[in-house]
Amino acid sequence: MNHLQFQRHRRLRQTAGIRALVRETHLHKEDFIYPIFVVEGENKRNAVKSMPGVDQISLDLLNADMQEAVDLGIKSVIVFGVPHDKDEVGSSAYCDHGIVQKAIAQIKENFPELVVIADTCLCQYTSHGHCGVVEDGVILNDESLELLAKTAVSQAKAGADIIAPSNMMDGFVAAIRHALDENGFSHIPIMSYAVKYSSAHYGPFRDAAHSSPKFGDRKAYQMDPANRLEAIREAESDVMEGADFLMVKPALSYLDIIRDVKNNFNLPIVAYNVSGEYSMVKAAAQNGWINEKEIVLEQLLSMKRAGADLILTYFAKDAARWLQEGEEAK
Ligand SMILES: [Zn+2]
Repeated sequence: MNHLQFQRHRRLRQTAGIRALVRETHLHKEDFIYPIFVVEGENKRNAVKSMPGVDQISLDLLNADMQEAVDLGIKSVIVFGVPHDKDEVGSSAYCDHGIVQKAIAQIKENFPELVVIADTCLCQYTSHGHCGVVEDGVILNDESLELLAKTAVSQAKAGADIIAPSNMMDGFVAAIRHALDENGFSHIPIMSYAVKYSSAHYGPFRDAAHSSPKFGDRKAYQMDPANRLEAIREAESDVMEGADFLMVKPALSYLDIIRDVKNNFNLPIVAYNVSGEYSMVKAAAQNGWINEKEIVLEQLLSMKRAGADLILTYFAKDAARWLQEGEEAK
């Protein structure tokens, strides 16, 4: 054998200690953004059937949930509202005492150190379930921008630390940046859902947020899963319009896109590990087909390896707990 020339890569894999020394990517509790769904009413904890372990909760139960997240070392949450009333123009999205505004104010009052991100969209608030203003079955771009900007300002007023617009209208970052600046919120960053694909992986979320479109689909504003260069164009315009973070959504089927965006822009990149990705793992785990903890940590690690700096994930609390247990076991 001595005459064969080859590399001995296994030298760096032989013990846990050496593997730890050469590990290139790490997960930290600080990486996770924890998504919550808030509902009106009292003592409400509505399990989302298609997302085991995810509940819609009322504000009286919110502090306990936030305390648990803080104790696990989570630093940021993103708030989704499930309002009582919906109408054609989503007015409860920008109402100063809307469910999201109340939740934001409550979290900031009780947990000032938590970074509160407001998801800024209209689909949970509109009777037709689309992310903008609808006229004759068409989702109007510029009219939607006005409402989105109003929503962002009301969320900032409530105390949101970061505004995260998600409706994929052209110019949404510019419109929100302008409105925030005009209203004294020039210090509030924008986390843009810059690259959001029209994906079948959002199904369970629409259960959780009651946000399914009542007619048609979102293909006229969300991106075609087949396109890669378009992702760069989308991200580029958001950067020019003043975005502070760029998000790619979904994550797992779009790791190549996360890498492309990371390589092209110098902003923090956020991967959205979406509901369908969560539910597929949960379903398989409930059947005993996979090791949930190992699969989830591997998937989250793959998003970071692909270039994500932060991961918005329904596994946030589980993953933080697993990392904590791992630390204690050492
Ligand atoms: Zn939407």
